[in-house]
Amino acid sequence: MKLDEIAVRQMKGVSAQKEQELHAFGVHTIADLLDYFPFRYEDYRIRNLGELKDGEKATVEGKIMGNPILQRFGRAKTRLTCKIAIENVLITAVWFNRHFLQEQLVPGRDIVLTGKWEQHRLQMTVSESEFPDKGKARSGTLQSVYSVGGSVTQPWMRKTIAQALLQYGPMVEEILPVELMDKYGFMLRREAVMHIHQPDDIMQGQAARRRLVYEELFLFQLKLQAYRSLNRKRLDGIAHVVDAESIRVFSRTLPFELTDSQKKVVNEILIDMRYPSCMNRLLQGDVGSGKTVVAAIALFAAVKAGHQGALMVPTEILAEQHHRSLQKLLGGVGLEVALLTGSLTEKKRREVLAGLQMGLIDVIVGTQAIIQDGVHFRSLGLVVTDEQHRFGVNQRSVLRRKGLNPDVLTMTATPIPRTLAITAFGDLDVSTLKERPNGRKPIQTNWVKHNMLDRVLGFIRREVEAGRQCYFICPLIEESDKLDVQNAIDLHIQIQQAFPDLRVGLLHGRLSTADKDDVMRAFSDNEAQVLVATTVVEVGVDVPNATLMVIMDAERFGLSQLHQLRGRVGRGEHQSYCVLIADPKSETGRERMKIMTETDDGFEVSRRDLELRGPGDFFGTKQSGVPDFKLADMAADFGTLEDARDDAADLTGRADFWTGAPYARLRDVLRKEQLFQGELLD
Ligand code: ADP
Ligand code: MG
Repeated sequence: MKLDEIAVRQMKGVSAQKEQELHAFGVHTIADLLDYFPFRYEDYRIRNLGELKDGEKATVEGKIMGNPILQRFGRAKTRLTCKIAIENVLITAVWFNRHFLQEQLVPGRDIVLTGKWEQHRLQMTVSESEFPDKGKARSGTLQSVYSVGGSVTQPWMRKTIAQALLQYGPMVEEILPVELMDKYGFMLRREAVMHIHQPDDIMQGQAARRRLVYEELFLFQLKLQAYRSLNRKRLDGIAHVVDAESIRVFSRTLPFELTDSQKKVVNEILIDMRYPSCMNRLLQGDVGSGKTVVAAIALFAAVKAGHQGALMVPTEILAEQHHRSLQKLLGGVGLEVALLTGSLTEKKRREVLAGLQMGLIDVIVGTQAIIQDGVHFRSLGLVVTDEQHRFGVNQRSVLRRKGLNPDVLTMTATPIPRTLAITAFGDLDVSTLKERPNGRKPIQTNWVKHNMLDRVLGFIRREVEAGRQCYFICPLIEESDKLDVQNAIDLHIQIQQAFPDLRVGLLHGRLSTADKDDVMRAFSDNEAQVLVATTVVEVGVDVPNATLMVIMDAERFGLSQLHQLRGRVGRGEHQSYCVLIADPKSETGRERMKIMTETDDGFEVSRRDLELRGPGDFFGTKQSGVPDFKLADMAADFGTLEDARDDAADLTGRADFWTGAPYARLRDVLRKEQLFQGELLD
């Protein structure tokens, strides 16, 4: 029997009820129980009185010197005191509500006390005591502290795990290959499990933890890297026949010269597209770094190779926006670019679907709907997703079921901290746009209080008179979509009144698609000079003539959201500005406004955001695909994570990993995840 096949109920002392409660902690089998690691240790090692600080909790050993005195007060409250000699000092030990100890406190008897030391009174308030003549259970040791609850108490958990270690500890199997054990000088898994629960000293506990943290991160990375490596071996993708000359010709039709950074990532993408397995590439680049044109080139390449391309975005507004810009870029060289959204008329929709199926449409732009049922492609070669969370395994399998295996390029403007890049996106190849297009001036950001609104309005006037345009973002009201819209409507009235001679547009999520389209078009064409909007303009909207972004109640937005909003300006040749109107109440709030004024580099913003918030909070962990690790701490164990990633990539890239006997246990792990059916085994 394997330990992960033995139900925890088999243990003495684990009742049906306890079993249920253990399930809630994720403990089902003996293996789970042994892997239920303590999160810290309680120190019961005997200390010298002289080294204790006032108020410290500690354990000391001494001899009972007098008879105990019991006081009762209130109904059931008691206070028991007794003189104890520790080394040469006579102290007072105090127990609350432990009157039953009275008869055990016999003068001359040895005793071990754990409690809070009060230096000035030479007194210890005792939380736990033991008599060495009855055997020492705790004293002199480190005791594990587990996360517990309900009828699963700390002592019960300690006892049960101790029992499991005795009974099953020797059966714990090794999982890491010898080469890695040697490389890091790790102890055996069996020893590590023993020592993390019952360390002789702190060093031993730490050494055990080091090995187990590595193991956890390594197994996690192994899955990502194996997925990547298997994907490259599985030659069932499309090998796009990319005609380099036509790409060069196409790039000459662009209104600008590509930056070096853009050229580099285009090359990375084209190499992937030529390769006969599916591309899984992440393109990250700060807002305004010019991702759209990179996507356009990739789509162009797919079409030139005889396939179709799809661009998937999170909202319809964005779909419309991208449709327009792709039409500009690709329409000129004869590609048919179409839009598929929920608000097409039935007739138009049928036309588009037929066009896709027959291959009359080369590139389709839309929301998730473009890969759903009822949509058939003649030959889908490339899917690009913009500004949404990664193209998941689910979406991939929707496509697979339709017999499609396109290359996938995921674009994001959210700079991903290195930790997350390695964890959540470790199975992707990453390209980064490092520079913004030439000649772009940094956006100047200012933070003002609400009482400066008049000056802000004056600033808007100045920009408009210079021929520029301006966004005015309404406060974010998370709880209520309705209030959000109302706010936008109110603010719109207010701004329109302030500028009776200008046209002020209004954009929010409740408008019909046709209305949104009208509003956006009017703003794009500079018919409207000011656009009051909710965060619907957060991503993708591209109006290069807009140079001023005003954000009302900026303290309500997250830093990365502010950065995204700010990225709507600074897209043309003119100096651009961002004004944050905010009266933050807290120090952190003020700090966040300051960060925005100090840098307009998205990576820097996200780095400082991470500092301010801590990593757990950064993305909603759930969405970002970062797993909850049992032991590992993303911040503290980052170095180990990098080691684990390198080791896993190295191992899965080697042929003998997929067949060699030393790696059988690791392949089992992959098989359990259904990543690996064994088709690469001999
Ligand atoms: P994002 O990465 O935020 O999606 P876009 O692709 O929307 O950025 O590009 C931002 C702006 O920069 C657009 O107006 C685009 O036309 C322009 N642009 C892109 N690449 C270049 C370039 N190499 N030189 C000059 N302007 C560029
Ligand atoms: Mg974009």
